[in-house]
Amino acid sequence: VAELGTPDRSVITTCAYCGVGCSFKAELNGDELVRMTPYRHGKANRGHSCVKGRFAYGYAAHKDRILNPMIRERIEDPWREVSWEEALSFAATKMRGIQDAHGKKSIGVITSSRCTNEETFLVQKLARAVFGNNNTDTCARVCHSPTGYGLGQTFGTSAGTQDFDSVEHTDVVIVIGANPTDGHPVFASRLKKRLRQGAKLIVIDPRRIDLVKSPHVQAAHHLPLRPGTNVAVVTALAHVIVTEGLFDEAFIRERCDWDEFLAYAEFVKDPRHAPEANEMLTGVPSAELRAAARTFATGGNGAIYYGLGVTEHSQGSTTVMGIANLAMLTGNIGRPGVGVNPLRGQNNVQGSCDMGSFPHELPGYRHVKNADVREIFESLWGVEIDPEPGLRIPNMLDAAVDGTFRGLYCQGEDILQSDPDTKHVAAGLAAMDCVIVHDLFLNETANYAHVFLPGSSFLEKDGTFTNAERRINRVRKVMAPRNGYEDWEVTQALANAMGAEWHYTHPAQIMEEIAETTPSFAGVDYALLEEKGSVQWPCNAAHPEGTPLMHVDGFVRGKGRFIVTEYVATDEKTGPRFPLLLTTGRILSQYNVGAQTRRTANVVWHGQDELEIHPHDAENRGLKTGDWVKIASRSGETTLRALVTDRVSPGVVYTTFHHPDTQANVITTDYSDWATNCPEYKVTAVQVSQSNGP
Ligand code: SF4
Repeated sequence: VAELGTPDRSVITTCAYCGVGCSFKAELNGDELVRMTPYRHGKANRGHSCVKGRFAYGYAAHKDRILNPMIRERIEDPWREVSWEEALSFAATKMRGIQDAHGKKSIGVITSSRCTNEETFLVQKLARAVFGNNNTDTCARVCHSPTGYGLGQTFGTSAGTQDFDSVEHTDVVIVIGANPTDGHPVFASRLKKRLRQGAKLIVIDPRRIDLVKSPHVQAAHHLPLRPGTNVAVVTALAHVIVTEGLFDEAFIRERCDWDEFLAYAEFVKDPRHAPEANEMLTGVPSAELRAAARTFATGGNGAIYYGLGVTEHSQGSTTVMGIANLAMLTGNIGRPGVGVNPLRGQNNVQGSCDMGSFPHELPGYRHVKNADVREIFESLWGVEIDPEPGLRIPNMLDAAVDGTFRGLYCQGEDILQSDPDTKHVAAGLAAMDCVIVHDLFLNETANYAHVFLPGSSFLEKDGTFTNAERRINRVRKVMAPRNGYEDWEVTQALANAMGAEWHYTHPAQIMEEIAETTPSFAGVDYALLEEKGSVQWPCNAAHPEGTPLMHVDGFVRGKGRFIVTEYVATDEKTGPRFPLLLTTGRILSQYNVGAQTRRTANVVWHGQDELEIHPHDAENRGLKTGDWVKIASRSGETTLRALVTDRVSPGVVYTTFHHPDTQANVITTDYSDWATNCPEYKVTAVQVSQSNGP
């Protein structure tokens, strides 16, 4: 601050990292951003922030930013800087040429959970109204798509049920497959405060995460399950609750489908679901599991928080439905202190799903087969919308390898680094005739691109992000876009270069269109957001102030639906060649693949990605902390430093994936969730051996 001067003005905006959605004051001296300080009146963070958010502005000014558009005929050619007009004309001609030669469905888009609602809305509109197909998908495919499916099936909508304030009323909390201390630090602080006040905690995680035991916080129960056995553990909890008569019959009779409950109760009562019968499979001591079930069912207000350790499995959607079953069984829905709460990894995962990024859903989670919903958009946009769902990201890549999908516009997403089976992603991208990457940096995917369109950072645009509690927060332009244009302007220019006639002059107009077409956003506009600071959807005539708690008087779908959750083992098996199970997570100071956080001033905090291995497994391999190790799976291999620790159980190893050199996705499998294709990142059978280094 001393070097840059004392701030003379400030702009309130929203952090662009995790799904907590903290509000910040970006403080400037003239046009120079001096610092970011957490905003006292931010309803998601109430004046708090974490180390990532405070330094987030660093990457916006990083020298690696690409500020001019570039094109090339072939990916072997060098990039050529061109004007915006030439780049957009080149891209439009290529994409139209592909459609002329190979049909309307031969191209598609990938939207980003990093971008604003307004930008995302326009990208899916580009696919549906300009390309004429539903080939739109989002990076939520690889994280929370099972949340969309599971909560949609059980409750009727794809969203967390509570606001963050709700945690102040909870008495007993299950944290499953999430590590809030590192992944959602500001929410973790609020949770810890409640735990210090006496709320009980049950952690279900293969690893002894910080919440299990940290200063002044100790979990009542830690269930260190074997990766891949979430469904068996959740069903065993339900078995105890049902067989011991601990369920909330009055709630279930009033709020849920009673016949479906009876079928579910019959299913979970089966002795094969008893904790004792599953001890060998899950690795969880049955007495501890029984005790945890009793604690949750009898402890008062019970809340469940979960993360990617639930969703990124071949049974991710099944586990989400199992969690919803647990909440309904115990009557923990519809009041403060309870509920089912997905902790969203990225700033706008919720929003990108809300905005119709999935290939089967128009904005507001309405199926493209629904003619009445299509009619709303068709009459406004003056086009006919394809009634058939489009391709998901993995289907796009398969079709590219087969030669039927040949053009992609990818905004704010590095699929080569973040999607599973890197070799297959590369093969799909290499097979396409036109890959358009719209991003801040020349990312790994850009190695296969023919057009690079420079992106604008969150500091350089107006719009909104929707956080994990459905809170629509304003993103405000702090400085002019260094590349010249906000991302929504670039998408609009591409659409118009392909023959559309879009005339938006500000994201507020895009929000008006969202509100006009999407019932849960019908009451949202920028004036309301200025007045209230933020609102939680649904926000409409029935809920003009927004909706902090969902399913209060009834579920969105009417009666809550119990769904039988049969455990099916993943096809990824350990054996003599690959005896250990690898699972993955994050550290506090880094964010996802690190493209932003590695380019900020707090880089001194960043450690390297390490392989955590239990002392027993390390000793068997002659390893000690700091040694180089080779991790080999059936898909590939990579090299890391070892960290010997009993944070992981014997038979389980763990790493983070923040550095490109780690290449975690070279070793992950191509198995995915049965309902949504969300990749099974959290279970990979591996062998670990000594190495001389990379
Ligand atoms: Fe808040 Fe998440 Fe940003 Fe940290 S990374 S400041 S917790 S939104």
